[in-house]
Amino acid sequence: MKITVQKFGGTSVATPELREKVVDRIREAAGEGYQVVVVVSAMGRAGDPYATDTLKMLVESICADIPLRELDLMMSCGEILSAGVLGATLWKHRIPSRVMNGQQAGLVTDGVYGHAQVVDCHTEYLLRCLEKGEVPVVAGFQGATAEGEINTMGRGGSDTTAVILGAALDAERVDIFTDVNGIATADPHVFKDARIIRRLSYNEVSQLAYEGAKVVHPIAIEVAMKNNVTIAVRSMKDGGPGTIITGPEMGTAKDYGINPKQIITGIAHVPDLAQFMVDFAEPDADLELEMFEKLGEAGISIDLIGVFPGLKVFSVNKEMINRTERILKKLNLRYSLRRDCAKISVVGAGMRNIPGVMARIVKALQQKNIQILQTGDSNISICLLINSKDMVASIKTLHDHFELQKEGNVAASLFLY
Ligand code: ADP
Ligand code: MG
Repeated sequence: MKITVQKFGGTSVATPELREKVVDRIREAAGEGYQVVVVVSAMGRAGDPYATDTLKMLVESICADIPLRELDLMMSCGEILSAGVLGATLWKHRIPSRVMNGQQAGLVTDGVYGHAQVVDCHTEYLLRCLEKGEVPVVAGFQGATAEGEINTMGRGGSDTTAVILGAALDAERVDIFTDVNGIATADPHVFKDARIIRRLSYNEVSQLAYEGAKVVHPIAIEVAMKNNVTIAVRSMKDGGPGTIITGPEMGTAKDYGINPKQIITGIAHVPDLAQFMVDFAEPDADLELEMFEKLGEAGISIDLIGVFPGLKVFSVNKEMINRTERILKKLNLRYSLRRDCAKISVVGAGMRNIPGVMARIVKALQQKNIQILQTGDSNISICLLINSKDMVASIKTLHDHFELQKEGNVAASLFLY
């Protein structure tokens, strides 16, 4: 029998009304002849009583530097509570189900508290449930080491749980249900005219996700790509088809009404960044290295890195500004700090080897008087650091310039592989 994994995010399981929609989605899949495995995230967002951030704050307000092991056990509870509540909802509807934590679902992790990776997945227990006609409801975002220590997998970890289970169970598809209708040409909550893209390649979604489109976790996409798992990102409210993410071999551009000349697929953004420019009056290789090492040791992730003789430039999340300044001051470094920045990334596999994309971006933004502070690029993306106040206008300008609102004008690049 064919298997499907359905993942429901935090906002999708937060209220009784929404959980009824979850039941609808499960019933629909069962009606289509699927055996369904459900993965859930913790209920709600920061501030809600059972959200992961709330549980974290609960213990950190008692002990700010609680050991990571202790924190991880607490962090894993949000998803377990969510599974328990959804399980009860299914039983209310007389749908036989079985709630379980990540360890019971067979996920073996590598022991890195807070950022664990799954190293193995034993599916016997899940398969036995499915054979009995039960719907397993798995707490996402967690697993346990071979020794039984509980690990969580970092933000967005439930997406990864779903894809790993999908791969291990040889599921026909993994459905990521969320609060938007699919993956759009930009974040629909920031730019309302963004358009849902019907079909995307792993590479492009991965790039969009790494550049800030948090709709699917980038590691989930990597796992899907390695194991050839088809993912659909769908609205949990109406269960529409959403966005299908697969390899390039399914179908042709014509099947999807896609314009093969299109070079840009979507625009991702990251708000709340700050840019540091560190001025080494005289090049000092040891000191420069020490600075990067100290930043790394302090867990500060740096982005948009520019290394020039005598000058080093990088961006950090605004929460890391104080920590970064402390390190630079301790090393007696001269620096300037620009607060209130944002990053916009224009992504499209079709831009590979196409000259002139940067010129078009610069011209479009110049015409709107939007200042570019710094740029960076990969083979399928160009990212721009800009002032926060220009973030939405930049998205709109580039969205208009590349005509992303036109049906068929995206994802063409999928077929260029
Ligand atoms: P969940 O709780 O279901 O995991 P997330 O908040 O992690 O939901 O992801 C869904 C959110 O991703 C949407 O509410 C939307 O604001 C955001 N998002 C960012 N970029 C995009 C995009 N390109 N397409 C769709 N959603 C996006
Ligand atoms: Mg998510």
